[in-house]
Amino acid sequence: MNLDPETIRPLPWHAQPWQRVQDAIRAGQLGHALLLAGPAGVGKRRFAGRLAARLMCETPDAGGEACGRCRGCAQTLAGSHPNLSWLQREFNDRKDKLKRDISMEQLRRMMESLSLSSHYGRNRMVVIDPADAMNASGVNAVLKTLEEPPPGVHLVLISERPMALAPTLRSRCQRLVFALPDPALSCQWLQEQPGQFDAPTTLAEAGNAPLAALEDQQSGLAEQRLAWTETLLALANRRCDPLGAAAQVDKDRVVAWLKVFQRCLQRILLALAGVDADPGWRAVSLRLRGAQVERLLAEAVDAQRRLGSNANPQLLVESLMILWWHLSEPPQNRGASRA
Ligand SMILES: [Zn+2]
Repeated sequence: MNLDPETIRPLPWHAQPWQRVQDAIRAGQLGHALLLAGPAGVGKRRFAGRLAARLMCETPDAGGEACGRCRGCAQTLAGSHPNLSWLQREFNDRKDKLKRDISMEQLRRMMESLSLSSHYGRNRMVVIDPADAMNASGVNAVLKTLEEPPPGVHLVLISERPMALAPTLRSRCQRLVFALPDPALSCQWLQEQPGQFDAPTTLAEAGNAPLAALEDQQSGLAEQRLAWTETLLALANRRCDPLGAAAQVDKDRVVAWLKVFQRCLQRILLALAGVDADPGWRAVSLRLRGAQVERLLAEAVDAQRRLGSNANPQLLVESLMILWWHLSEPPQNRGASRA
């Protein structure tokens, strides 16, 4: 895996775990197995990249960071360092998606390489990303390596679901926990990134995970969310039609759209309770009863479930748009249709 210099730059909320790792390296006590645990979008992979660069660097600077200039750094950034391997799920061309497991074959190749002597007689690092994608035989193979770890070898396990890992494996690891950072710190960091965007909103939409927010901004999803919210409001006010609105939702982004839809419904519930002050949503909330909003929310949750079992995403969006259109009908239209 290639490491972009940008992606191994320090993240402000990593100061504490990074210090722990630095102290351990200086004391010669960096564990043979590290577990980087925490939710998606907080930078566990970046932390592993920064650590890999540090361990592969031949002349780290006084602050304990990779120098970025030596042979080790050049090879790390090019993804060709012989002492660094990064195991991820491979792509299944036939099914056009990632394989479910990190295969036994990948782990076997990794262990074979570890049994050979280290190049340049230095540190070796293997990242297993995500570690919970190993099956039981994979875990056993890793445990075996950890029984008698070759000198200088560090296995770094990345996981959003550490409790899904075998307890025998978890207990062998030095654990570094990455929590969601303080939103104020995340916002400040997001505002320093390239591109103009509404950092607090994007961060909140991404569940307060700063790297997820950055990705949403870079992929255009943040802008798309605003457009979807406007469309739902326009639909309630009869400024567009349900099928046209559904056509604006790309089938690969239906999960994201469902979240936006649910958030709009939650805003209506807040408006009904007198909390959300946005005039547009307040006006729509006056046409709905709480029970109707609850019904829409239940339908959205059900759509999310059906999406997981291969339902047609376009049809799901269309049916929710139509339901939304009916339930949010302005009173003057109701009068007209009854007349
Ligand atoms: Zn270097």
